[in-house]
Amino acid sequence: MTSKHAETIVLHAGHRKDASTNAVAVPIYQTTSFQFDSTEHASNLFALKELGNIYSRIMNPTNDVLEQRLTALEGGAAALSVGSGQAASAMSIQNIASVGDNVVSSTALYGGTWNLFKNTLPNMGIEVRFVDPHDPEAFANATDDKTRAYYAETLPNPKLEVFPIKEVAEIGRKIGVPLIMDNTAAHGLCRPFEHGAAIIASSCTKYIGGHGNSIGGIIIDSGTFDWEAHADRFPALNTPDPSYHGAVWVEAIKPLGPIAYIIKARVTLLRDLGAPLAPQNAFLLIQGLETLPLRMERHCENANAVAAYLNDHPKVSKTIHPSLMSGEPRRRADAVLSGGYGGLCGFELKSGLEAGKTFIDSLEMFYHLANIGDARSLAIHPASTTHSQLTPEEQLATGVTDGYVRLSIGLEHIDDIIADLAQALDKA
Ligand code: PLP
Repeated sequence: MTSKHAETIVLHAGHRKDASTNAVAVPIYQTTSFQFDSTEHASNLFALKELGNIYSRIMNPTNDVLEQRLTALEGGAAALSVGSGQAASAMSIQNIASVGDNVVSSTALYGGTWNLFKNTLPNMGIEVRFVDPHDPEAFANATDDKTRAYYAETLPNPKLEVFPIKEVAEIGRKIGVPLIMDNTAAHGLCRPFEHGAAIIASSCTKYIGGHGNSIGGIIIDSGTFDWEAHADRFPALNTPDPSYHGAVWVEAIKPLGPIAYIIKARVTLLRDLGAPLAPQNAFLLIQGLETLPLRMERHCENANAVAAYLNDHPKVSKTIHPSLMSGEPRRRADAVLSGGYGGLCGFELKSGLEAGKTFIDSLEMFYHLANIGDARSLAIHPASTTHSQLTPEEQLATGVTDGYVRLSIGLEHIDDIIADLAQALDKA
């Protein structure tokens, strides 16, 4: 089945019916291991002479459907599902960077990614250089011969200023640096590969799952980045890997297609670090994915209405939503997002932090929790929660001010959403 339409892809790509039972819903292959047909079959699988299931830490047929579907949705070549969005971010970099290497990242990041980049990757010997995403040239200026990737979020959570994907991808491709995009808040609205990104590393926990019931992550390989042409920059893919009998990944994987990056991630990093997605969660994420385009339409429609309402409210000093932006941020949003501006909306109250807390405590229908992209409407105060481990300066760089309240607008009737906001604002 081939279609260029997201609505069709999310229902049909990667699975028609189960090969042994004809089941139409994707079966949950709740098994650790898969029986080998013979000793020859077993050794062929381990040697990658044949592709097939070995052990669910490394691959599983339920996860495979999620991987194929998200690959098709994003127009990529192959994907790897992992246990969380955080695991996807970390592994997308660890796959090509090691001690002494560096990555150049946008400052507009989710707080957890900021912590990973500021503390944990440097502890592993990988430096992350933060640059202002308003200036694509800042990526070029921060690059040296040890730079292994650029990293950014499409619709950064919570700054909501769309990243200049095309401009930075172009800079990177000229000098052999792949752009890794976290597309978490924009799946179904933006296809970063069409703008030149090389890799996607996203959380599936949010809009893909869409129902707040499962943590998961995905790394997708566009198959369009020429790792061989920049062999000096990517020794991990171009020199013998002692952990796999000296395999040179770009050579060894060539017969399977331009997917050396993602196969290496699966058979070395996932094998060694062991952060697989549970098949039960893959099933729930697939279930959510099947309605992603439809849900995104309503998330966007409701968020637009909320942004317009807040923008006119006398107690609100600032509303953050792409529909209200002008100049370059608006141009980028319009160039990159299609079908809407996403389901997130931020705002600040004129009377500051205390009023913001009263507002959140007064919400009756909105949930107060640390997630986005749920079918239900959600609210949080990032400075004291998701971004609380950052310094005040770091918080500002990610777009978090003291008074910022982040809303993830759900699928409820818009009248009920506005009514809950209105009564909470009355008390704030
Ligand atoms: N990327 C973004 C943009 C996020 O908002 C989050 C979580 O909020 C993550 C990555 C991490 O995902 P997970 O919570 O699935 O580990």
